[in-house]
Amino acid sequence: MSGGLPATIDPIQLAERAAHLTGTLPLAGMARLKEACIGGEGGVEIDLRFDRSTDAQVYEAHGVIQAALRVTCQRCLEPMMLTLTVRPQWLYVRAGEGRETPIDEAAELMEADRPVALSELVEDELLLAMPMIPMHRLEECPARRYSATGNKERRNPFADLKGRKPGTG
Ligand SMILES: [Zn+2]
Repeated sequence: MSGGLPATIDPIQLAERAAHLTGTLPLAGMARLKEACIGGEGGVEIDLRFDRSTDAQVYEAHGVIQAALRVTCQRCLEPMMLTLTVRPQWLYVRAGEGRETPIDEAAELMEADRPVALSELVEDELLLAMPMIPMHRLEECPARRYSATGNKERRNPFADLKGRKPGTG
């Protein structure tokens, strides 16, 4: 599927036909994520596959979500690009179907009782992956330059004494 991603999805229906969704969702449609960014341009790349799982009652969706977000570095307060890659796994059961079999505790099991807003689903995953305090990598952060210079030029207060020979002057 190219372009035209659906606004809402029915995960179970997609899983029944082993659907593969790829494309770009606009960041502009993700209000909460947009708030954490500088400007609202750009998009979020998704590549998601929907499948029946080995358990006949459980449907799954998994894949990759990638976003390059412009945020403020909290160390130097300059803009920076934050690249997030999330590999979600969602498990769905039909609404109202009670489950007796134990499932993998690591994955969250959701009831597909209504269509799901695709960009909301993706936004939630990105918000979870977002660092609380985004910062440049230390070696790339302009703030590091200032402090490094400061350290280098800090003089050893005994340097002058050392060079002086006793008995002279
Ligand atoms: Zn920085």
